[in-house]
This record gives sequence, C-alpha cells and structure tokens, in this order.
Amino acid sequence: EVKVSNLSKQFGSNSVLRDVTFTIAEGEFFTLLGPSGCGKSTTLACIAGLERPTGGSITIGESTFADEGRFVPPEGRNLGMVFQSYALWPHMTVAQNLAMPLKIRKIDKRRQGPLIHDALDKVGLAELKERYPHQLSGGQQQRVALARALVYSPSVLLLDEPLSNLDAQLREQARAWLKRLQEELGITTVYVTHDQVEALALSDRIAVMSRGEMVQIGTPKEIYATPATAEVAAFVGRSN
Ligand code: ATP
Ligand code: MG
Repeated sequence: EVKVSNLSKQFGSNSVLRDVTFTIAEGEFFTLLGPSGCGKSTTLACIAGLERPTGGSITIGESTFADEGRFVPPEGRNLGMVFQSYALWPHMTVAQNLAMPLKIRKIDKRRQGPLIHDALDKVGLAELKERYPHQLSGGQQQRVALARALVYSPSVLLLDEPLSNLDAQLREQARAWLKRLQEELGITTVYVTHDQVEALALSDRIAVMSRGEMVQIGTPKEIYATPATAEVAAFVGRSN
C-alpha cells in the first residue's frame, strides 16, 4: 500500500503541490493524469525520494519515507523507476545496463546473471542481452529500461511517461504489453501521463490533478461517466 497524505511541495515561493492525498492498494495500477505543469512528476519525485516534500507524509507498506522531520533517500526505498528519458548507458550492453543497479545494491555476483535473465525474460528480450542500446529499436530500449527497473524486485514501480518517446504505433504495442506485464507481475504501479487514452486503457484507478491539487480519483469508468468538474470532463474527452 502506498499512502500519500497532504503532500505539499514548494519551489521557492511557487507552491506546486497542495494537500495531495491518495492511497494505492497492493498490486494496483494507479495513474496520475493531468495537463502539463499540474504537478504529476513532482508527486512521483516525492514518492521516489528525488524531491523532499515541504509538507505531508509518504508511507509505503510499513515504512514511512517522508514525514515531519523524516526523509529517507531514494536508495533506502527500493522502488523501480522509469522516466520519460529512460536513457540506457550507451557504452554498456543490455546485460551490463541491468547489472548496474544490482552492483549498486551489492548483490552477489553469482545471483546477478539469473536476475538479469529473469528481468529480460519478463519483457521478452532475453535473447538481446549482448546488444548495445544503439542496436535496439526505440520500443526495445524502452523495454530494457523497464527490465532495469524490475531487476532488483522493487516493491513499487514508478513510471513517468515511459512511452512518450515512442511513435504512435509503438506506443500502442507498448501499452498492450505493459498492461499484460502488470497483470502477470501484479506489482503496484504509479503511472504518470497526460494522455487520457493511455490512462483510461491501462489503469485500475485514475487520479486527475489540476494546478497542484487532486481533483478526482476513480476507476476509468467513473472518471469518464461522472467527471467531478467541467475541467475533468474536458480532459478525459467528454464535452458536456
Ligand atoms: P508535464 O506533463 O509537462 O510533465 P507535470 O504535471 O509533470 O507536467 P511537474 O513537472 O510536476 O508537472 O511541474 C509542476 C510545476 O513545478 C511546474 O510549474 C514546474 O515548472 C515546477 N517545477 C518542477 N520541478 C521544479 C524544480 N526543480 N524547481 C522549480 N520548479 C519546478
Ligand atoms: Mg512531468
């Protein structure tokens, strides 16, 4: 369970998150949806520990990662992350890219090979281990980035617009296998997108944000059928 309570974040005098609250159930695919600049990435960065909240708390399972006077750095959180620019290290093979987070976590050398194989197998790329990133298609690179986030069995997966570098057709494919993978692994996922079609297709629940605030949380059906505000309605593609 991921619990974000009254999260706020200010950059100088600019208040970009105000009292953002939501709870994500174990195994849920939860999407933060909203227009550019509404605070989606900042919310994810606070969960990841890349930004320190100005107020509020973040708890995952039994561990409180951020609260008044308490802040656990990213390496203490065991979360998997894939960002929009999912940059693989260009001078390393696929296998070496996946070995990196294992080395950082000081995982026994003998265990690394099987873990790397399993992670690549999950995204269907086990046979491309020895390739370099430039020898892969954009979609394949994207899957390697996801495998790299999965290789150390994170408790929660944080995905910030991971498909946005792909062209329309690849995005559609990537969406399908992402959905399948999530169903297979059942890993709790926080997904960030400004693409309502993607959100409606992938999510168990969607949280719609606007200007640093949470506007509505619900299943895709609920959000689409009964948008809380005219802005949500417009954003999910309904005009009423
Ligand atoms: P997009 O869909 O364009 O990625 P977003 O919803 O992810 O948008 P954020 O990246 O969370 O939006 O940004 C929210 C606001 O916070 C923006 O106004 C942005 O300029 C500001 N912001 C984000 N990071 C910083 C930072 N490190 N320093 C100052 N301002 C920041
Ligand atoms: Mg963003």
